[in-house]
Amino acid sequence: MVQSAAAVENLVVIGSGPAGYTAALYAARANLNPLLITGFQDGGIPGGQLMTTTHVENFPGFPDGILGPELMDRMKSQAVRWGTRLVEADVDSLDLSSRPFQLQADGRTITAQSVIFATGASANRLQVDGEDTFWSHGISACAICDGATPQFRNEQLAVVGGGDSACEEAVYLTKYGSKVHLIVRKDRLRASRAMADRVQANPQIEVHWNRQVKRFGGSDWLASIELVDGDGRPAETLPVRGLFYAIGHTPNTGLVKGQLPLDEKGYLITEPGQPATAIEGVFSAGDVADQQWRQAITAAASGCQAALAAERWLTHHDLAITITRDNVEPEAAELPQPTTTVTEQDFDSDALWQGGSYALRRLYHESTKPLLVIYTSPSCGPCHVFKPQLKRVLTELDGAAQMVEINLEEDADIAAQAGVTGTPTLQLFKGKALKQQWRGVQQRSAVKAAVEAQI
Ligand code: NDP
Repeated sequence: MVQSAAAVENLVVIGSGPAGYTAALYAARANLNPLLITGFQDGGIPGGQLMTTTHVENFPGFPDGILGPELMDRMKSQAVRWGTRLVEADVDSLDLSSRPFQLQADGRTITAQSVIFATGASANRLQVDGEDTFWSHGISACAICDGATPQFRNEQLAVVGGGDSACEEAVYLTKYGSKVHLIVRKDRLRASRAMADRVQANPQIEVHWNRQVKRFGGSDWLASIELVDGDGRPAETLPVRGLFYAIGHTPNTGLVKGQLPLDEKGYLITEPGQPATAIEGVFSAGDVADQQWRQAITAAASGCQAALAAERWLTHHDLAITITRDNVEPEAAELPQPTTTVTEQDFDSDALWQGGSYALRRLYHESTKPLLVIYTSPSCGPCHVFKPQLKRVLTELDGAAQMVEINLEEDADIAAQAGVTGTPTLQLFKGKALKQQWRGVQQRSAVKAAVEAQI
C-alpha cells in the first residue's frame, strides 16, 4: 500500500458511503494519496445506508441489480486499489478552526490540508418496542431499495410518514403489494399537492389519518401492526408483512456543529450543486448536504465533484504533495471472498476459518481451542463489516482460536437449534460450553479480549 509522503495529509475523506469512496477514488487517481476514515458506529455502519438494503436495482452498470453490501465492497475495493488508505474507526473530533485541520480518530491525531465531509444521513426510526427484532425482517427505511423483496409480493404493506418520501414510497409499493396503508400522524399530509393527489387518487392506497404505530406482531417476520389514534387510544390492527419508514432523515453533522453553517434540520449548507462549504478547503459530498435526492448515484456523483474541487483547491494553493507510482497500472482489486463451505472431504481441523455445519459439528466436539461461530446471511451488510474484523482477530491470535461461519440460508436448522434469529450473531464456545454471545457488529478489541480470556 502507498504510504503518506507527508506528515500532514493532503486530503482526509470522512465517511464510507458511495460519496466517500467515490471522492477517495478520484483523489487517489489524482495521486493525492487520500486517507479515508470509514466511521464505525456513529451514524450507522461503515458503507452507509446501502449496507442495510438488499437489492440495488437502479445503480447504472448492474443490469440485474446488485446487493447493497456487495456494491459497497466493490466501491471500497476500487478506492483501495488506487491507493486510498483506510482508518476503520469513528472520527472522535474535528477542529476546523486552524490550518492544517485536526482530527482525532483511532486514538491518534491526524492533520489535513483539506477535508471532504461525507458522513451521510441516518434514516429516522420510530423507536417503538420490537423495532430491532423486525428490522430487515419486515421493517425497512427504504421502499425504493427493498420494496421488491419476495416476502412483500402481493402482501399488504404500510408506509409511515406524511411527506413527499412517504407518498412516493406508497405509490411505488403498489407495484408489489396487494394494498398499501399510509399511516399519517396528523390529519393532513406535509407532501406537495401533486404528490398528495397521486396518493389520494390511487385505489390501492388507504390513508389512515391521526394514527401512530404502537406495536408489532409476528414471529420471525412482521405479520401485523397495531395503531393508536391521536389520543393514544387503540385503533386498527393491520395485517401487513412490510412496514416502511419515511419519517425523515437526520444528517450526521455532529462533528461540524458550531463550525460550519447548518440548516434547521442539521444539513450542511453549501451553494446549491457545489461541494465547497463556508470554510475553504472543506468540502461536502453526499446526503450530509442533500436532503432532497439521497440516492447512491447522486451521492457518488457529488463525491466526484468534491474530490475534483479539493484537488483544484490544493493545487491552486500549492499545498498538494502528490505521490509517484512505481506501477502505473495498480494490482487487480481484491474483493472479499465468500467462506468455503467444507464437507468431510475438505474439512481441515487446523483451519482458522471455514464454513458450514459439518465443520461446526467437528470442531464443536473435537477442538480444544476457543471456537467462534458466526451466523451470517448473504445480504447482511453488517456481516460484511464484521467478518474481516474477526478474520483479523484470528490472524493476530495466530492459530490459538478457530472460527466457523454458518450461512442462515444454507443451514437454517442449525441456526434455529442455536436460537439465532438475526445476523450477525457471534457465539464463543470453549469445551462445548457457550461462553458468550453477541448480536450485531462489535468492536474487534472486545471480541479479541473475550477469546484471549479462554486461551
Ligand atoms: P419530511 O421531513 O418532509 O417528512 C417527514 C414526515 O414524517 C412528516 O410527514 C412527518 O410528520 C412524519 N414524521 C416524522 N416523525 C414521525 C414520527 N415519529 N411518527 C410519525 N410520523 C413522523 O421528509 P421527506 O423524507 O418526506 O422529505 C424530505 C425532503 O425531500 C422534502 O423537502 C421533500 O419535499 C423532498 N422530497 C421530494 C420528493 C419529490 O419531489 N419527488 C420525493 C421525496 C422527498 P409531520 O408532517 O406531522 O411533521
